[in-house]
Amino acid sequence: SFITLEGIDGCGKSTQARLVAAALRHAGHDVLLLREPGGVKISEKIRALLLDPENAEMSDTCELLLYEAARAQLVHEVIEPALSAGRLVVCDRFYDSTTAYQAFAGSVSRDAAAMANALAVGSTHPDLTLVLDIDPVRAAARTTDRSADRMEAKGLAYQERVATGFRTIAREEPGRVRLVDAAPGVETVFACLLAEVCRAGLS
Ligand code: C5P
Repeated sequence: SFITLEGIDGCGKSTQARLVAAALRHAGHDVLLLREPGGVKISEKIRALLLDPENAEMSDTCELLLYEAARAQLVHEVIEPALSAGRLVVCDRFYDSTTAYQAFAGSVSRDAAAMANALAVGSTHPDLTLVLDIDPVRAAARTTDRSADRMEAKGLAYQERVATGFRTIAREEPGRVRLVDAAPGVETVFACLLAEVCRAGLS
């Protein structure tokens, strides 16, 4: 099975991905925890290009295609083989991030994002997507201690559009995508996420 975690910067997604993966491992699953963009050598190199503040001149189309290139390699090299082998894959971000960031918040059309996503993943789709929903002002307060990368430097209005994107996706695909309130503490959010995993029959 394939579970993805999504949300704006500072929503606590990476912490929760680790906790969910550990819990599923504890329950006896053979779990593979990955992150996007990245996860394999080529995709980590593409990640560095994407996040480098020195690449300020990068066009939105270049950005879209780099995310998709990183995704395509990760699917090809790791996700698809792991799923075929019966492993449980937990991925910190996947194609809904492209819909939310590059389409809702950026200048890419939803059609273009959907086509690019389809090209990158083929028939590999998440069974369950957990969106950590949080007010961008609150999320920003959690990230002030780290220096912003190229994407995070885009500001609050951008994060608001990303959050709207994720909420819209959750409304459009209620079967696959679950919105979880990420404002409470780590333990509370974790319990809500596990409940969704159970409800989806993936625990
Ligand atoms: O998951 P993480 O926070 O490490 O994501 C790295 C950066 O890439 C973040 O700043 C996020 O906003 C950005 N991102 C993006 N578009 C995507 C995926 C990630 O702008 N499709």
